[in-house]
Parts: sequence; structure tokens; C-alpha cells
Amino acid sequence: MRIATLSGRVVLAHGEQPIDVWEASNGKFGPEPAAVFDQWATFRAWADAEYGSQPVVDEPSWLTDEHVGAPSSHPRQVFAIGLNYAEHALESGFDLPTSPVVFTKFASCIVGPNQELSIPRGKVDWEVELVAVIGAHAYRIDEQQAWAVVAGLTVGQDLSERVLQHSGPAPQFGLAKSFAGFGPTGPILVTPDEFDNADDLEIGCTLTGEKMQLDRTAGMVFSVPTLVAWVSHITPLFPGDIIFTGTPSGIGSSRTPPRFLQPGDELVSRIEGIGTIRQRIIGQYDAPAAPQKTAAAVAAGDHR
Ligand code: ZN
Repeated sequence: MRIATLSGRVVLAHGEQPIDVWEASNGKFGPEPAAVFDQWATFRAWADAEYGSQPVVDEPSWLTDEHVGAPSSHPRQVFAIGLNYAEHALESGFDLPTSPVVFTKFASCIVGPNQELSIPRGKVDWEVELVAVIGAHAYRIDEQQAWAVVAGLTVGQDLSERVLQHSGPAPQFGLAKSFAGFGPTGPILVTPDEFDNADDLEIGCTLTGEKMQLDRTAGMVFSVPTLVAWVSHITPLFPGDIIFTGTPSGIGSSRTPPRFLQPGDELVSRIEGIGTIRQRIIGQYDAPAAPQKTAAAVAAGDHR
């Protein structure tokens, strides 16, 4: 099953034209994505019975519409995984992680797949990632149960501003990866059963036509089921939650010379069996200046 969000409403996305889920189900499911994820199992049973035998059209033209939104547009939690591909860990100057590196992007950065973006001045970098969307309440599940609580997979970019990320005494992953528009996802959500092997998909991105990243998700250090199960042991997962599962090598900050997004660039990211997302960079704004105090003032007890 393939679904998408169009003008804020869930649509079935397997054919040449989108089918509005709310209308097709006589108001039983939808109209917004969160309502479908809350009833995922019964929605899947209905959708498979009504539309499961229909032929699939790869990347129908309407998916490039600017009104296509994120498949899970208002997730309650957004997790992201660092250093999850060997070559990317090495290019970032780290050893391979022996346990998952988990951080968050704030939910306000989640946008659709075809956005024009204005970015902060600084060092805005790309990270194409396979994104898993949760379709159940899941708490302390084991790896064998994990694919069953994944509603589907989509394409994401974990856009990251490297100056803020590395400023201050400790890394600032959450804020630096959560500027407005820094979490484009889409264009569709594909259920795990649609893939020959959901654990091994080609993933890559180009910048203004030039290849930047290309790998396979089989190269992840920690697989989707391992990550879903691990995160669920700490935090209960909700329907619609999103997990960015890490990026392959080829990010801008590790290139020689380093390269970052500029106005006029077009970032095109693709995952086999899912589709393509495109961000056109149309402008830059001044990055906000963080509040500052001198070390002397802090040491003197100026904590106001
Ligand atoms: Zn990332």
C-alpha cells in the first residue's frame, strides 16, 4: 500500500490519480494523516481489501505538486540516528558506533517533499535518509516485532546547519537540525510488504545534478528493526512518529573542499521503491545570533 498527503488529506497513491481516503471510505478513515496512523491496522485491512489488487504506478506526476505534504505531517516524536553508515562515521572522524546514536529533530521542521526553502546563512548540509513512520503504540517491543509496528518507509533529508551544530561546549544536534523546513519527507509512504527486501534499498542524492551520496540501506550499522526496538525500550512510540535512520557518506562538510547549500541549488534525494524529493534553495536569511555572555560574567555569577 502507498499513501501520501495532498492538501493536508490522506490519499491512496498507487495509481495515476490520488484517491481521497476520507471520501473513498465514507468518512471512516482520515481525512488528515494522524487519524489514519491512529487506526493503522484497520485502515490497512480496508485499503488492502478495496484497493490491494490495483496496479502500482511508479512516481505518478501529481506527486511533484507543491501541495503534497509530509506522509506523517504532525508527528508527536521525531527521532534521528547518527553515524549509522560505516563510511559516514569515518568521514565524520568517528569510529563505528557500537550502540545507536539517537537524537531528535523537532517536529516543527517536518515539511513536504517538494518545498522551496530559504536557509540560514552558515553551513547548511544535506543528509539523505530512509525514514520509518510508526503505525502503532509500541513500548518495549523486541526486534522480531519491529517491522510489524512500522507503517511504512519514506524519503527524508536531515538538513543540518553545521556552525550551530558544533558551537558551544557540546554538540547542538536538536536545534541545528530543526530550522524551519529542515525535515522534508515524502513523497509517499510505502508499506514494508511492498519491497522485495525492505532492509536493502538504494539511497542517494544529487546537488544541482551532481552525485553527492549513493549507498544501500543494507550498509546501516543498526537496522530499522534494531532501531525501532531500541528506541521503544526508552520511550513509548506513538502512531505517526518518525525515525530518520542515518545518512550514508558524501555530506557536504566532509568533502574537499567542503560544500554547503546555496541559493539556486536543487537537492534531489531518492530511495529505490519509494521515490524522489526535491528542495530548491531560493534564498538565505541571517542566522540568529545566540545569547552571549563573557566567561568572566558567568564566573562572577551573572546568571540572569
Ligand atoms: Zn542525519
